[in-house]
Amino acid sequence: RRWGFGLYGEMRSAAARDPRRLAIVDERRQVTYGELDLRVCRLANALRVELGVRPGDRVGLLCENSVAMIELMMAVVALGAQAVMVNTGLGNAQVEAVAHDQGLQLLLHDEAFLEMLAAVPPNLPRLSTERIEELIGRSPSADLAPPDEPGSIVVLTSGTTGAPKGAKRRNPAGLAPLASVVSRIPLNAGDRMFVAAPLFHTWGLAALQISLALRGTIVLTRRFAPATALAAVNAHACTSLFAVPVMLQRILEAPAVPTPTLRVVAVSGSALPGPLATRFMDVYGDVLYNLYGSTEASWASIAVPRELRAAPGTAGRPPHGTRLAILSAAGAPQPTGAVGRIFVGNDMLFEGYTNGTGREYYGDLIATGDLGHLDADGLLFVDGREDDMVISGGENVYPAAVEDVIAELPQVREVAVAGVPDQEFGQRLAAWIALHPGETVDADAVREYVRHRLARFSVPRDVYFVAGLPRNATGKIMHRQLFPR
Ligand code: ATP
Repeated sequence: RRWGFGLYGEMRSAAARDPRRLAIVDERRQVTYGELDLRVCRLANALRVELGVRPGDRVGLLCENSVAMIELMMAVVALGAQAVMVNTGLGNAQVEAVAHDQGLQLLLHDEAFLEMLAAVPPNLPRLSTERIEELIGRSPSADLAPPDEPGSIVVLTSGTTGAPKGAKRRNPAGLAPLASVVSRIPLNAGDRMFVAAPLFHTWGLAALQISLALRGTIVLTRRFAPATALAAVNAHACTSLFAVPVMLQRILEAPAVPTPTLRVVAVSGSALPGPLATRFMDVYGDVLYNLYGSTEASWASIAVPRELRAAPGTAGRPPHGTRLAILSAAGAPQPTGAVGRIFVGNDMLFEGYTNGTGREYYGDLIATGDLGHLDADGLLFVDGREDDMVISGGENVYPAAVEDVIAELPQVREVAVAGVPDQEFGQRLAAWIALHPGETVDADAVREYVRHRLARFSVPRDVYFVAGLPRNATGKIMHRQLFPR
């Protein structure tokens, strides 16, 4: 019985070797690896004795990024239970559905999210994360033996295409994730990483995992705001920033701040619009990395600054240990340039959904649910989700490509393109556009701009100007909320 290599195992071995190294910092406090280890053991014992958490139990966590969130998550895993990470952007009814679908036995939540639990049945035990110090203070012991079965972390998918699915993450095998990421991103032992991406999402957790493997320091803030985030990056001399693409947009809208220590800005979780990549690098330098991936596949490809300069919309190349295949609907490998279904294989694939449903496989590669193509240099371009593809009058249109073109217009702050039902063509293309404050542009100018750059059937027939676009907690545009399907 060993602790293995999961998040908790990594933390324990870091604590054994570098107990005095700073592990996590948030606005309220900080812990070294040694302190983290001790606090997690105490917390685990308190959860076991006071709240009856047993191996195999499912414990929900509804928290903003904080030291406490990581301590609680690790304590749950240390007991051999499952930590189910709940998205803080869900509605009350969705939280109730997650609690029910995931069979939660206990819910640990920030006080700030109390109202989100309104629909959760009162007989589900819950505990505010503000009570963590009390629990640790009352803990009967700091000794902990490994459980028979290692605990695990259940990450919920974003629910972009329906209800969020619970994806069980295996304790990733040894150094595979680290070897994969450092094959394309220059991260070093002891790096200080500002993690702005939410830790309940696969991307934030990946950043945590990488930091632990590097014996690095993670810096967190509860709620992302560009000025405070960059101030924290500088205050802690962070070398990397892990974010979602929409955060880059918000950073660019705030006054520019020199960030001399920042070498890497890594984004993932949703498409990185090409023009945004270019603008960001023009201001903050060639530090940008774009990771394409999903909860199920982990990261599947990584674009480095040089590639983003040459081909701003690219998702890059598969890192060490990852294979990609672009297949036709019939399962045949697609030639260069042709759009097909993206399949991915690596040592970091998820274990399966908690509700027992499956995902489509091709050999040992899984379907990502996305469409994409490779260019002549072997760079991957993600053309969008399979379900978002629009068939208008028999022509296939990829909304993401149209969004990228409209986003080039300097007046445009953000844009979403989707297919809406059409009597004549089956579907027709519609665009929702939010402009920068004080800017104007008319619908015909938008259509004209697209007409000059893409095929005729890619020109949106409907153009709506809106104040902003509905996004989930990771900044993904919720296309399905733009109009009822
Ligand atoms: P659900 O499965 O519940 O609909 P979801 O697929 O949105 O939710 P995630 O696992 O959070 O849940 O998102 C993964 C998806 O996000 C990918 O399949 C892809 O569509 C998109 N994505 C993530 N990173 C990138 C990227 N760098 N470029 C383009 N698309 C990306």
